[in-house]
Amino acid sequence: MTIHIQTPLIESLSVGKNLQAKVWLKMEALQPCGSFKARGVGFACSQYAAEGATEFISSSGGNAGLAVAYSGRCLKVPVTVVVPVTTKQKAIDLMEQEGATVVVHGSIWIEAHQHAMSLAQKGAVYIHPFDDPYLWEGHASLIDEVKAAGVRPDVIVLSVGGGGLLSGVVAGLQRNDWQDIPILAVETKGADSLAVAAVAKEHIGLSAISSIATSLGATKVAGQAFSLLREYSISPLVVSDKQAVDACLSFLDQHRVLVEPACGASLAAVYQQSEILLNKKNILVIVCGGVGATVEQLNQWSDSL
Ligand SMILES: *Cc1c(COP(=O)(O)O)cnc(C)c1O
Repeated sequence: MTIHIQTPLIESLSVGKNLQAKVWLKMEALQPCGSFKARGVGFACSQYAAEGATEFISSSGGNAGLAVAYSGRCLKVPVTVVVPVTTKQKAIDLMEQEGATVVVHGSIWIEAHQHAMSLAQKGAVYIHPFDDPYLWEGHASLIDEVKAAGVRPDVIVLSVGGGGLLSGVVAGLQRNDWQDIPILAVETKGADSLAVAAVAKEHIGLSAISSIATSLGATKVAGQAFSLLREYSISPLVVSDKQAVDACLSFLDQHRVLVEPACGASLAAVYQQSEILLNKKNILVIVCGGVGATVEQLNQWSDSL
């Protein structure tokens, strides 16, 4: 069963205003659960359901948890999401609205995660937010759609948290014989685990996350994402929280779509005409979305950062 929907691919004159290139937006913000995670998580859940899974477990209070909740509802498989007490009520409400059981456990994420893993030992399948080959295979469908639309990008701009989206996009490029297309991999300062590992040429991580872009907040990227740095043309780029937030506000004005700073990071790279985007003809931006921001919060961040 296919959980995600095919999203629009639109040319943006506003986002591409200062560039010579055409800028194409892949509108993953329009997935029913608000982010591209519908693709990978939806695919993984379908596979596990076909393999006999009777319950899904997640420990993400963010877009991954919501995607698992959504997928479980579509597949008629019960979902439990374990989140720490710091999780916003709005996030809990959204997951419960999808029919998931939300268990609040622990004061920090790792405690919630350990509890989720203990539940998983009793037969439920744990759905990882970024580190699972099924996820990457599911995310890859995004590139299939771009190809089917007849657009051949000469650079792709995307955001990186744990590197699941990055790994999936590379998988999509490979299966469409588009391996020569380079990727600009954008993170925010304080959530820049890929950039740090790239500079060190070692699979190291951050000791803590200090960015407000919590959906990019993986202290260490997946092993697959780190390996791809050596095998593939990936340029890591780090933007500030302020740049990411202001990009969200500009994008809201121009396209009337609200996205998280995690997604604003990629948009910021294009608004700022990042070096690698010059001399390109077609730039594909993955508008990864996210449900965790409000206009009020974006304005507040923009004023205070
Ligand atoms: C999950 C997520 C990311 C990061 O994706 P990874 O696969 O962890 O790299 C970026 N933006 C949004 C909105 C997300 O939900």
